[in-house]
Order: sequence, then structure tokens, then C-alpha cells
Amino acid sequence: MRNRQRPSCAREFRGNNTRMTKTIARLPRIVRYIDRVDAGGGASCPHCGATGRYIFTAEVQDEQGSRRRIGAMAGCIKLFPVAPIAREHAAYLEKLARYERNGWKGLPSWDRDALDAIEAFYAGTMSETLALATVRAARARAKTWRTMRGRR
Ligand SMILES: [Zn+2]
Repeated sequence: MRNRQRPSCAREFRGNNTRMTKTIARLPRIVRYIDRVDAGGGASCPHCGATGRYIFTAEVQDEQGSRRRIGAMAGCIKLFPVAPIAREHAAYLEKLARYERNGWKGLPSWDRDALDAIEAFYAGTMSETLALATVRAARARAKTWRTMRGRR
């Protein structure tokens, strides 16, 4: 698996994860969202068997650091703790999908920069620390833009 080539990132995940998994649950932590499929309401959740519409696939990491893929419907995927980078990734992908649904032109440049950084992290070419710093910088740019727009 690609992440095995980045032991430093795996260590970071474990380090950040220690306290959360003890207080929240024994569920492994989502480190990456892979896919969301609209099953139209007739699918059963791979996690609990309940009927659902959206089935998510995600990569999770347990306290020992081993990773695997899980599937769960929307209600169940929310029960899993989520790594900050994965949370950011999901938010930007959702925004991108909204833009595409509405036929809007591409994401603002700061959102693209943030998404590029997250994807570079998952591709193994950027550290988690730098990717998250890029996301924070992008958010600051967005905030500045909104403030300026509000003053026109
Ligand atoms: Zn379920």
C-alpha cells in the first residue's frame, strides 16, 4: 500500500490518534475518504446492515497503525473518528461536487490550492504538516476575500 512508503506520516497519524481513540471509541480512525456511491436507497450498510442510500468507502487506521478499507452508509461513517487531513479533503471534495452540480466554473484559486496540497499529501509528495498549513493559508485567503467583498 502506498502509505507504507511514508513511515513518517504513519507515525504522525498514530501520534495524533492516541488520545482520540481512547476517549471516543474503539472504531479505527478514517485517514482518507475513497468514494461515495449513491445506491438510491436500496443498499445495505456494510458496517451494520441497515438500509441506506449513500455508501462511503474510506481507509481507516487502527491503534496499532494497520490500515484497511471499510464501507459504511452516511449515518455510520459519521461515527468514526476522522484525521484532520481527511476531514479537510472531504469538505473540499464536497464543495467541488457542489460547483460541478451547479455548473459553476472551477473552485476559487485558494480552494484549488488547498485541494492540490491535500492530494499531494495523499500522493506522498507533501508532508501532512505542510498540507494542513497550506489549507490554513488558503482559508485565510478566502476569509480576506469575503471580508473585502462585504465592504464593496
Ligand atoms: Zn451501518
